[in-house]
Amino acid sequence: MLTAESVWNNCLKFVKDNIQIQAYKTWFEPIKPIKLEDAVLNIQVPSKFFYEWLEEHYIKLLKLALTKELGDGARLVYIIKMENTFGNLKPFTEKIPSQYKGNIPSQKVDIPVTNLNTQLRNPFVIPGIKNLKIESQLNANYNFDNFLEGDANRLARSAGLAVSNKPGGTSFNPLLIFGGVGLGKTHLVHAIGVNVKDKFPEKTVLYISAEKFTQQYIDSVKKNSRNDFIHFYQIIDVLIIDDVQFLSGKTGTQDVFFHIFNHLHQNGKQVVLTSDKAPVDMQDIEQRLLSRFKWGLSAELQQPNYETRVSILKNKLFRDGVTISEEIIDYVAKNIKTNVRELEGAIISLIAQSSFNRKEITIELAKSVVDKFVKNTKREVSIDYIQKIVSEYFQMDVSTLQSKTRKRHIVQARQLAMFFAKKYTKASLASIGSQIGHRDHATVLHACKTVDNLSFTDKQFRKYVEDLSKKFTV
Ligand code: ADP
Ligand code: MG
Repeated sequence: MLTAESVWNNCLKFVKDNIQIQAYKTWFEPIKPIKLEDAVLNIQVPSKFFYEWLEEHYIKLLKLALTKELGDGARLVYIIKMENTFGNLKPFTEKIPSQYKGNIPSQKVDIPVTNLNTQLRNPFVIPGIKNLKIESQLNANYNFDNFLEGDANRLARSAGLAVSNKPGGTSFNPLLIFGGVGLGKTHLVHAIGVNVKDKFPEKTVLYISAEKFTQQYIDSVKKNSRNDFIHFYQIIDVLIIDDVQFLSGKTGTQDVFFHIFNHLHQNGKQVVLTSDKAPVDMQDIEQRLLSRFKWGLSAELQQPNYETRVSILKNKLFRDGVTISEEIIDYVAKNIKTNVRELEGAIISLIAQSSFNRKEITIELAKSVVDKFVKNTKREVSIDYIQKIVSEYFQMDVSTLQSKTRKRHIVQARQLAMFFAKKYTKASLASIGSQIGHRDHATVLHACKTVDNLSFTDKQFRKYVEDLSKKFTV
């Protein structure tokens, strides 16, 4: 005798043979056969979105499978499971077509159906408010026209352009843009999104910070709507996630992102990511995610050179309709080197100062403004610099510090270098180890603990730490 289960299981076998395993797991495993009446099979799907997805992508396959089992009269009825969608079932009664009233919590949908009254939960809208259109969250002021090209960003910029001209269609998938603060990562990825929207208005683009993504995910878990969260992200054509280093240590969010990523990638959708570090230096990000990040292209944004800094300043002044002498532009460009945001900030504050105080923009004014910016910026300390300072302090060569010797004073110098590298740089333990004499991350960890202990117990050693600290912080 045929039962809903037996018919559905046969259908599944057929489906499984015909689609990718990941798609099968995502879209077919969660379905439950509910009942069979004559040639009508009722299946339960987790959300409306699910139903729409099946209809759009798998209806032919399903029809074929079902007809094989039940003959030409076969029909499929979806029952959309409403897992406590809005926290409370009440508002829902209004949304169910009148003929189904009283049939809560399930909504039946006969195919084909063109209009449904319920909706996919979109984490960007307040539940219950109709809004199926996904807002891209893009800032149109960040575009390619005003992202000035220079040696430091040429690769990233042109990869970004290529991706936005052919989303999902290049080998730059994912495209990972990495680099220090204020070097234009956010600007560049918005530009990609804006350009895609321009060229392909029908594509769904979404920009989101990793922080917001994490928050939405946590909320979805609390509200018991994790599946809808995932499904929402799986329908995006171009997903842009800013500052993925924020996901470090957040295993739940990494896990969900992994699944979303795989789904998008498999379906030829574009993923664009930014991070403040290269994938090799990311800490507490699962290996399987890191390996995905490396599938496409990682392009670095470096510090712009002098010429690029001048063009960025001139462009900014031009857009704001302000003229400033070449001498002052040159002064600002020469003195602010590491961060485009600060470069812009100095110019903005210069313009503001001059217009508030009705002062002319003089080189003196420029100096006082730039001074404030440069002073407020903590100097970036590199691992090389740390090794140099520590070696000088102990009057040895850097090569001695890095050597394999176990002589006590050399070991201590090496451990101090590792300790300061951990303290003053963002580098990972592994990366510190490899730069300080090719040691592994465990050695660096051990060094940090030893320095901590010794500075408690050993007065002389504490003096070393204090002296050296001063050299790195002034
Ligand atoms: P990040 O996300 O890397 O911290 P942002 O994208 O926020 O940096 O950039 C900081 C500021 O510098 C923004 O106002 C951005 O418009 C500007 N900027 C960065 N790079 C460029 C560039 N190449 N051309 C023009 N403006 C830039
Ligand atoms: Mg940013």
